[in-house]
Amino acid sequence: MNSGPSKYRFSLIAFFTTAIILCMVQWRVSRPMLMAERFAVGAGWIQILIMAGYAAWITLKMQDPGQSARWRRITWSVFSIVFFGQLALGLAGYEKFLMTGKLHLPVPLMILSGPIFRGSISFMPILFLSTLIISGPAWCSQLCYFGALDNISADQKTDLKSFRHKFRIKHILLLSIIAITILLRFFQVPARFTTLLAICFGVIGLVIIAVISRRKGKMVHCILWCPIGTLVNYMKLISPFRMYIDDTCTDCMACTRYCKYDALNNSDIMSRKPGLTCTYCGDCLTSCKSDSIRYKFFNLSHQKARHTWIVLTISLHAIFLALGRI
Ligand code: SF4
Ligand code: SF4
Repeated sequence: MNSGPSKYRFSLIAFFTTAIILCMVQWRVSRPMLMAERFAVGAGWIQILIMAGYAAWITLKMQDPGQSARWRRITWSVFSIVFFGQLALGLAGYEKFLMTGKLHLPVPLMILSGPIFRGSISFMPILFLSTLIISGPAWCSQLCYFGALDNISADQKTDLKSFRHKFRIKHILLLSIIAITILLRFFQVPARFTTLLAICFGVIGLVIIAVISRRKGKMVHCILWCPIGTLVNYMKLISPFRMYIDDTCTDCMACTRYCKYDALNNSDIMSRKPGLTCTYCGDCLTSCKSDSIRYKFFNLSHQKARHTWIVLTISLHAIFLALGRI
């Protein structure tokens, strides 16, 4: 565990990162973006203080590898509850809970197929790309409202068999979605029909979360079904963060039972690198008695690299929590 003043230093960095970005949004964007500001002029500044304190506190907790899985689960679940809670209130007619006052479909697939169908980039893909640059695959470990549901569902560890042999499904799905969306655009299919298709895709995803992920003890929705998850698997490489398995590894294979993303199989251990679907979540760290699963970020020590990743991910998480509405 990180000890002494340096753990508070990382918390302070998370505090100021979150506060500065939210202050810029509050100051520069004419429309009230923070929830409190929508209900009382000036209350957004108080919300910024609370969110920055939240980021500092979670960063402090998550620096301890023994606590990070628990706090990741709690904070990611809260994120999803807040997001879907706001959506439900928006649907019930309280428009202040919607980002623009107009509803759009909350299925991760839309981050990809929305811009292809419309032929223009919107706010969500830009946000998504920014997270990839800043903290690699953090989108799928703590920032996505759907992934949180898969994470909760896969908590029942009943069957830890690998899905690796089925990975071709995820690639076929991704390519099919891109091809189908291009065809829908080409034939100018009405939006109500494309929306219906996206709803069906989302509902099947929820069934996979509720039934298969729960039974298998792995995040099958995120590993195989979600095209954004597959994009993250590859595009995370645009961020300089990496995870690796150090040569101090004793090949005991204890860690292979701890990855819900199916990224720690025997072959990954032998090649000293977590697999394609690793989201850098850190849940496996305490399973390794020789502390061999490590973060890498330029020339920083592996502990500092991890804490830097936590600061960036938690700051993004807190900022999204404050601003993320549909
Ligand atoms: S794989 Fe899809 S649903 Fe899962 S966390 Fe990533 S974007 Fe969200
Ligand atoms: S290998 Fe470890 S850090 Fe990567 S996804 Fe699996 S549990 Fe998370």
